[in-house]
Amino acid sequence: MKKVMTAKEIFKKIFLIEIFQGLALTFRHMVSPAITRQYPEVKREPFPGSRGLHALVRDSVTGKEKCVGCGLCAAMCPSQCINIYTSEGEDHKKVVDRYEVEVLRCVFCALCVEACPYGAIVLTPHFEYAGFTREEFYYKKDRLLENWDKYMAGPRGDEYLEKYWGPKLSDFTSNGKSDSEERKDS
Ligand code: SF4
Ligand code: SF4
Repeated sequence: MKKVMTAKEIFKKIFLIEIFQGLALTFRHMVSPAITRQYPEVKREPFPGSRGLHALVRDSVTGKEKCVGCGLCAAMCPSQCINIYTSEGEDHKKVVDRYEVEVLRCVFCALCVEACPYGAIVLTPHFEYAGFTREEFYYKKDRLLENWDKYMAGPRGDEYLEKYWGPKLSDFTSNGKSDSEERKDS
């Protein structure tokens, strides 16, 4: 059955009300101030808890990576972008020869962080990085440890971990103490 138009609908059709409403909206946008930021001079605060580059946690006692090469992070990674190569060291202990992350394939899900039983890998809040080749985004062990020193060691890292990885916080420490606790003690 054909629907009968109401008086309001007829009025709108005759006077092209919706077209004028659309034009008014367009005009409002044309005269409103632009919100373009002049990056990198003007930067926005990152969203709280944003996940950026990976870092291998450096043990504050030994100064080496905490990673023991168990491979759980690589097994959990849905992008299969973590590659770990180990060998047998002194006392038959496993030695992590290479720990590499193909950053361009990563989806920043943080499953690797959650899977690690030793709190040996984290995602840092640093998300501003660029490069010209794929190789630049193939992060090796040294670079991942460097990321820890640059973006996570000290109060900034403590704050980030406390805020967003609270339940796992003790995992990221050595001797059961966080970097900040060790600083307080010393
Ligand atoms: S954040 Fe997710 S995708 Fe990226 S390395 Fe970790 S597990 Fe893999
Ligand atoms: S980062 Fe953690 S889960 Fe991954 S190999 Fe090292 S100790 Fe195992």
